[in-house]
Amino acid sequence: MINASSAAGNKAPVYSLVIPIFNEEAVLPLLVRRITALLDKLDAGAEAIFVDDGSRDTSVIFLRGMATSDPRFRLIELSRNFGHQIAITAGMDAAAGDAVIVMDADLQDPPEVVLDLIAKWKEGYEIVYARRTKREGETLFKRASASLFYRALEQMTSVTIPRDVGDFRLVGRKALDTFKQMPERDRFVRGMFGWMGFKQTAVLFERPERAAGETKYPFWKMVRLAVHGVISFSDKPLRLALWAGLAISGFAALLGVYALFSWMFTSGVVHGWTSTVVIISFLSGINLFMTGIIGLYVGGIHAEVKRRPLYVVDRLTGFEEAVAAMRNAEAPKDRMLAARERRLG
Ligand code: UDP
Ligand code: MG
Repeated sequence: MINASSAAGNKAPVYSLVIPIFNEEAVLPLLVRRITALLDKLDAGAEAIFVDDGSRDTSVIFLRGMATSDPRFRLIELSRNFGHQIAITAGMDAAAGDAVIVMDADLQDPPEVVLDLIAKWKEGYEIVYARRTKREGETLFKRASASLFYRALEQMTSVTIPRDVGDFRLVGRKALDTFKQMPERDRFVRGMFGWMGFKQTAVLFERPERAAGETKYPFWKMVRLAVHGVISFSDKPLRLALWAGLAISGFAALLGVYALFSWMFTSGVVHGWTSTVVIISFLSGINLFMTGIIGLYVGGIHAEVKRRPLYVVDRLTGFEEAVAAMRNAEAPKDRMLAARERRLG
């Protein structure tokens, strides 16, 4: 299972941790301590890849120091904030391990749970996700909206996206290579892993409070993630537009017939202005709504056809050995490898 050794004689890591970072200076010292403790406990070589998603605080300075002093730590600095889902993708592109674990920086995904994920992976599961049984320190609103979202998504998509599961998971090499072949811009990572199949299972854990700092997912970002999730995995909203359009046209036709009859058989009564206004505004409202739904899909297509790179890497720290290992392993060239090679000249 273990990849070929690199030229430097280092074993390629078996486990890769991928941790996205966006303005996490408050939690980083604690995080690094917990991650180091975890790496020490693992039964094989491991790397921790931090992906800085355009932080504007001191996170990067701290992480550069870590990546320089501890050979197991690596840092990818993106050129700006690309968003959580893309940051995860960048980290997974760079991961050299046979099992890759994605976790949040704020210790809401407790590092100790990784040991349970690994145990399941060793039983032969390709994808092991961590399911939240209890969510501490999150507002009632966040819990209610999350629960509503997962249930609605389950109704609307044809893919099974497990409930109460975030992006905290372990994926094996096969799943990771499949993921790398999925070029879509609109990345709803948990849906993409749901889509690909393989043997999947869950490990339960209680989600603690954020250890420090504050959430990087304000309300509007959550809504955007939810909309992306639905749009990229379901065409139900489009069909909804079709059926609603049909129903409303039918209703309008009936009204027309009614208007015609009253014009023919009632004597010179001027019918209400109110009903006209109501009908017109109702119809234009529905019209705008449907156009909006279609616009979301068209916007998705537009983003895809531009074929821009998913993310831009500004700087890499601590990757040199990993590149050598990957060259030896003759891994298929991917976005991240190309970036690494450019840098090494
Ligand atoms: N994050 C990121 N880019 C962003 C927003 C968040 O990389 O634009 C990272 C953040 O640093 C954290 C993870 O994504 O490691 C989850 O964010 P957060 O804990 O704030 O979300 P919540 O748990 O509140 O949903
Ligand atoms: Mg969090």
